Amino acid sequence: MHTIGLLGGMSWDSSATYYRIINEEVRRALGGHHCAKVVLVSLDFAEVRELQLRGAWDEAGALLADGAVRLEAAGADVVVLCTNLMHKVAPAIEAATALPLLHIADAVGARARELGADRVGLLGARWVMDDAFYRDRLREQWGIDVIVPDDDDRVLVDRVIFDELTTSRIEPESKRAYLGVIDRLESRGAQAIVLGCTEIGLLIGDADTEMPLIDSAQVHALAAVVAALGVATERRLAGAEG
Ligand code: GLU
Repeated sequence: MHTIGLLGGMSWDSSATYYRIINEEVRRALGGHHCAKVVLVSLDFAEVRELQLRGAWDEAGALLADGAVRLEAAGADVVVLCTNLMHKVAPAIEAATALPLLHIADAVGARARELGADRVGLLGARWVMDDAFYRDRLREQWGIDVIVPDDDDRVLVDRVIFDELTTSRIEPESKRAYLGVIDRLESRGAQAIVLGCTEIGLLIGDADTEMPLIDSAQVHALAAVVAALGVATERRLAGAEG
């Protein structure tokens, strides 16, 4: 079994989701007392957030690259960056380490293909929805068109992420608001919705909507397990375990 290197803390709430899913899936695949071999570098999200708000993406890239180097030194075989947004600085991470970076958008794209969706709605931090790095990867690598919410809805989606979800707040009112955003994306032709922020799965899940959801944290954690075991493990279907 290879060792998974988690670069997390962005936020720790979603890193905990990765840790749980990865261990559950290794146990499911191998049985007995098996669990995953993991090393974790967990950053202080306040520092990362301050760099985001200053637009200091080079500094953020250096900070995360240092984290990846520490993962490599600790024996990781693969880097799993537990956030969608910070894949904005993926090139800096890839330049700093010889380890492969399992890109989160590839896990999302593969799942969209499995669902037969070639037009997806994307919810995430504002730079995930506004900037090209994430949408382009889905289009260029996976042939998937991305629809983003309108201006007001993008403000709402981003606000809920950073005022609530990344500070461990789960609000029923925000769940209702997100479901409204999903309805509007569906009416514009989205065939599935990408939960393109690793905390959104803490707010909404398959039981809340008929729309197929692609939870980035879930599919990325599963991709990490496949990388660690070198085999396809039984896919945990969204909603199968609540
Ligand atoms: N976890 C979030 C994401 O998946 C946002 C937190 C961050 O800024 O990294 O994009």
